Amino acid sequence: MRHVGLFGGSFDPVHVGHLRAAIEVMEHLGLDELRFIPCAHSPGKPPPRASGRLRRDWLELAMGDRPGWILDDRELRREGVSHTVETLLGIREEEPESRLYWIVGSDAFSNLHQWREADRLGRLAHWIVLLRPGFPPVLPEEAPGWCRTGRTEDPARLRQDPAGDVLYLRVTALGISATAIRDRIRRGLALDYLVPDSLQDALARAACYDPP
Ligand code: ATP
Repeated sequence: MRHVGLFGGSFDPVHVGHLRAAIEVMEHLGLDELRFIPCAHSPGKPPPRASGRLRRDWLELAMGDRPGWILDDRELRREGVSHTVETLLGIREEEPESRLYWIVGSDAFSNLHQWREADRLGRLAHWIVLLRPGFPPVLPEEAPGWCRTGRTEDPARLRQDPAGDVLYLRVTALGISATAIRDRIRRGLALDYLVPDSLQDALARAACYDPP
């Protein structure tokens, strides 16, 4: 059985907070593969500033040829609002034998009740929640039941159960956000150690982040 991590997001742009977390999740869970899945448009968020094409190209540059890392652009190809339930159903159909682990930050996970078919999401994958600085593991009352009942700290349990486990992971705390990177680009400030070196020139020239 293959163990496949699925890391969705706007990646507008990708930064070292994403990349470092991806490495640590892969190590912690012994994943065979980790897919970055850039969304077309995240529900409840303004559309990304950079085009899908640019965000995908930057992700590819940032990923380099690290073993097991794959770019999955199905949400960009689907266009419109990207719903995780559709993405998960598609991947499960293609990979019925794989164990799937959806990776999400603690900020996004606490809004999960607003996602389409939130109750169903726990039946389609395990959930790996990255503890992000400033976003403690607190869930609102409206959170689907599985977000609480599925909680475990034991990675071995995720190997046994088919789906629905929720593991909070204390990855290296990096208080970096794409919002702050976009702001730095607008102001012409340095991006060193916030994004990979391979992206610095392209991002510094990115006109899509200019003030409207
Ligand atoms: P924005 O500032 O535009 O909202 P972001 O930095 O949160 O963007 P996204 O592309 O929305 O980046 O993030 C994709 C996923 O990665 C989300 O689940 C988010 O919570 C998580 N994530 C983003 N930055 C970090 C970080 N520094 N540490 C851990 N998780 C992160």
